[in-house]
Amino acid sequence: MRFHSTNGKSRAGFSEALRLGLAPDGGLFMPDIWPHVSATFLRKLPKKHFHEIALALFKLFVSEIPERELKKITREAFDFPVPLIRLEENLFVLELFHGPTMAFKDFGARFLSRTLSYFLRKEKDRGTLNIIVATSGDTGSAVASGFFNVPGIRVFILYPSGLVSRLQEQQLTTYGKNIIALEVKGTFDDCQRLAKQALSDKSLNAEMRFSSANSINFGRLLPQASYYAYAAALLQRGGFKKKPTFIVPSGNFGNLFAGLIAKKAGFPIARFVAATNANSVVPEYLQTGKFAPRKSKKTISNAMDVGNPSNFVRILEFYRGSRKAMAKDILGMSISDAETRATIRDVFCGSGYVLDPHTAVGVAAARKLPGSEGPVVILGTAHPAKFREVVEPVIGKELPLPKQLQAPMKKKKRSVVIRPRFPDLVHALRRL
Ligand SMILES: *Cc1c(COP(=O)(O)O)cnc(C)c1O
Repeated sequence: MRFHSTNGKSRAGFSEALRLGLAPDGGLFMPDIWPHVSATFLRKLPKKHFHEIALALFKLFVSEIPERELKKITREAFDFPVPLIRLEENLFVLELFHGPTMAFKDFGARFLSRTLSYFLRKEKDRGTLNIIVATSGDTGSAVASGFFNVPGIRVFILYPSGLVSRLQEQQLTTYGKNIIALEVKGTFDDCQRLAKQALSDKSLNAEMRFSSANSINFGRLLPQASYYAYAAALLQRGGFKKKPTFIVPSGNFGNLFAGLIAKKAGFPIARFVAATNANSVVPEYLQTGKFAPRKSKKTISNAMDVGNPSNFVRILEFYRGSRKAMAKDILGMSISDAETRATIRDVFCGSGYVLDPHTAVGVAAARKLPGSEGPVVILGTAHPAKFREVVEPVIGKELPLPKQLQAPMKKKKRSVVIRPRFPDLVHALRRL
């Protein structure tokens, strides 16, 4: 498979698209064509396991890794369960938070680190690859965990000082070795802008080799397509004839774009709901046709506090710039913090199930969905214990900390504080 940039000037194969992250012309890589899984595979879908489905998808896009190796990567990257929990008759939560950092970003980070590491092993000149990643919390920890101790790779994590939870900060700053936490005195949007600037700065790139582990990297998104297909398989297995609607709690819209990959590959998916918090740039676009990026607002679902969603250009190109076509597949909904809290409380009182604030945005959107025909699947993006500060006061109960989350709390924080200015970042990158 060949890839082109959304800005139209750069081209690359799969391995190059992953190693570069951002296209040299500043755009995002998109596949040249949209391949389809075979009819035979789709007929047998209800019987397929997660790894088989993931592999079938990967094979459509990745020809540079032999199948045996790709199989191994798939098995190692996704070594945790992906349960589909029934909340109501027609309403499900797909729990994507059973990986090491307890958020769905483990899927993307674990696949990307293993594929990049495979490509680096194949290379002759083995200069260090510097991964730059901006995070509002969950990305950084997933990337840190996924890339920790991977030979030949150094990771710089940019996170907004004081705007991530204490647990998230511990998850970002306590690895050490090849993982370096840069604490930016600014917002997530500042972090994202700085990361993008570093990736496209000519003189810096002449000195050091960079890539991105944000969802601008296609290698983060492809693995996420697999769980949409898997949930569709589970529902077929459960006797559902109608295709599911997926509700995607969204920030940078990488997860939603991954859903489009799965649908386009032929997996039975009806449509998507883009559920955002107060940062409602995309739902507004779907309604008005105006895309108006702006500064992000702080909410209780902080991993979705994005004012200028980076993957929107991909979605726009996917629909060839047609809002009408986009709106046929994607319904936008914006949920307030008050609604999010009320949803956490209601669901807990009704069934004892505890939602994290991001998944709760999805459940709140599901409740507002005008009469849906088939099953509705909300992507459960994080474990509630990651956001205890928000969840515990709402449900009036303490949440036990799962063992994956206990370890970082005991370690010492190490970060390098920088101002949200590019020269400060360059200085830190050169020095460290
Ligand atoms: C990153 C994240 C999101 C948003 O995902 P995007 O792909 O950026 O839209 C939602 N929920 C949680 C818990 C996250 O970490």
